[in-house]
Amino acid sequence: MQIYKFGGASIKNAEGIKNVARIINEQRDGSSLLVVISATENTTNILEKVTHSYVQQKDDLSSLFKEVKEKHEEIMHDLFKNKEHPIFDEIANTFVEIDWIIEEQPQDEYDYLYDQIVSIGELVSSKIVNAYLQETGIGSKWVDARNYILTDNNFRNAEVNWEITEGNIKKDLPKILEKSIVITQGFIGSTSENFTTTLGRDGSDYTGAIFASCLDAQNITIWKDVPGVLNADPKWFSETELISELSYLDAIELTYYGANVIHPKTIKPLQNNEIELHVRSFLDPSEPGTCIRKTKESLPVPSFIFKVNQALISVLPKDFSFIVEDNLSHIFSLFHKHKVKINVMHNSAVSFSVSVDYKEENIQSLTKELKERFDVSILKDLELVTIRHYNHETINRVLTDKDILLDVKDSYTCQMLIKSR
Ligand code: ASP
Ligand code: MG
Repeated sequence: MQIYKFGGASIKNAEGIKNVARIINEQRDGSSLLVVISATENTTNILEKVTHSYVQQKDDLSSLFKEVKEKHEEIMHDLFKNKEHPIFDEIANTFVEIDWIIEEQPQDEYDYLYDQIVSIGELVSSKIVNAYLQETGIGSKWVDARNYILTDNNFRNAEVNWEITEGNIKKDLPKILEKSIVITQGFIGSTSENFTTTLGRDGSDYTGAIFASCLDAQNITIWKDVPGVLNADPKWFSETELISELSYLDAIELTYYGANVIHPKTIKPLQNNEIELHVRSFLDPSEPGTCIRKTKESLPVPSFIFKVNQALISVLPKDFSFIVEDNLSHIFSLFHKHKVKINVMHNSAVSFSVSVDYKEENIQSLTKELKERFDVSILKDLELVTIRHYNHETINRVLTDKDILLDVKDSYTCQMLIKSR
């Protein structure tokens, strides 16, 4: 039993989907296969904008929604010669679910609406891929991940109920997998009241790990547009090195700090069951890529992780009290309540500073509440750089034309919040 996961970049157009079909055909090892599909490239971003625009009742709502629909229509036209193919209606009907939502005045909570709208991206992409696989004679069956992955109702970052999810998966999926390849969606789940939830941005990898772990898979392969796990993102560095073997622990550390090659929650369930994770290139499927498994080898090269769109939030007590346990626990509880995740933090006697991903709605509601007791300042458009196994040379390499605003080091890891000059 194997799991494959294909992300948005691999299915960005008809050519991509044909390539995915080829990989499934040529690379699978003959055992049963479950394939997790995320939304097509950039769709989640545009659907996020649709949600924002709907809630704010902005004019660009219909043009944004149209953009998503047309993109999928174009893909289907390129894939299916028969314009009467039922997939055309099926996708149109799936998009109607968004029409129903946006017809009404926005009343529900933002994160709830977000999940109902954004999840459509995975539903349509997985249906198109499944229809294409069937067209090419690869027997496949589409299943709705929401019938298996049960979550709490923490919309936009839902927590999986492992016990019930495992029961759901074990109940009928193995039988279905004996007969055909199963195609399902990443990123989405359902509450016990049948409301759709999402598992956090880039959560499809995590979905892959959930299915792998509950099905006792031999391995999972995440197909990417990079050759495997590199010691830096080629977006930022011209010279990168492929890490061919990585321990679960190093993989957890790297992804925790933001190496966005794999979603950070992915590794733990695999490690617990000793399921190998392969990261391979869908552009070059004959290459072995990176294998993450139980090994004593430690990371062979310094590794760089960049997180953009960071904001520095500085908090100072209004009454000049010190930043001690009492203040800190109040501050942490507010960050938790408003779902603002801290990437790095630093405190002095009278101030507390953190770097967070800039998410406007959440940060606004957080600062409003913080301001009752603290002076708060926010600085946007920053980058957070983390270096595992750093040294002088590696630090200098990332600091050209940058100013450091926050700087936290231990013996293995150095984190710097920087601003371009
Ligand atoms: N489509 C979702 C996102 O872009 C989930 C994923 O791609 O893993 O965040
Ligand atoms: Mg992705």
